Amino acid sequence: MTTWREKLKDESSTVSFGQRLGKELLQRGGNSLVFLHGELGAGKTTLVRGVLMEIGHSGAVKSPTYTLLEPYTYGEQSAYHFDLYRVNDPDELGLVGFDEIIDGPGLKLIEWPERADEWLPDPDVEVKITVLVNETDGREIEVCFR
Ligand code: ADP
Ligand code: MG
Repeated sequence: MTTWREKLKDESSTVSFGQRLGKELLQRGGNSLVFLHGELGAGKTTLVRGVLMEIGHSGAVKSPTYTLLEPYTYGEQSAYHFDLYRVNDPDELGLVGFDEIIDGPGLKLIEWPERADEWLPDPDVEVKITVLVNETDGREIEVCFR
């Protein structure tokens, strides 16, 4: 198991860290299941923007809070960005083809995996973003590759 731990002083640091993570995930085959932990506003979606840049996406990343899922495909590489914050019924996951995507190829990046604990397999990579209280607005990030 490998762990990365770093301080992210501002939004652009979170994006660059996401790019670095994206490179690593592609090197690992591009099929990882990634859990993203952290309170609302911690920077999970910002990090995903950096990861998606590595597969060819540029610009904004729509937060899939209501749609649950936003898919991205560039050439051979796919990524699925989930935000499960509002899930309260497993049927909603069935509607977006959740199981097939989770078990299939591509990067699976999941915000609020806690909301679907019982329906998710163990992740390949776990990310935890913490908002630092004593410093103006910075974050701390920990990434565990299992
Ligand atoms: P989440 O998806 O975790 O709810 P978002 O990525 O949508 O969070 O929003 C995080 C907010 O924090 C954004 O306003 C973003 O600009 C800001 N942010 C991201 N990373 C950092 C950082 N390292 N330091 C300070 N602010 C950050
Ligand atoms: Mg988010």
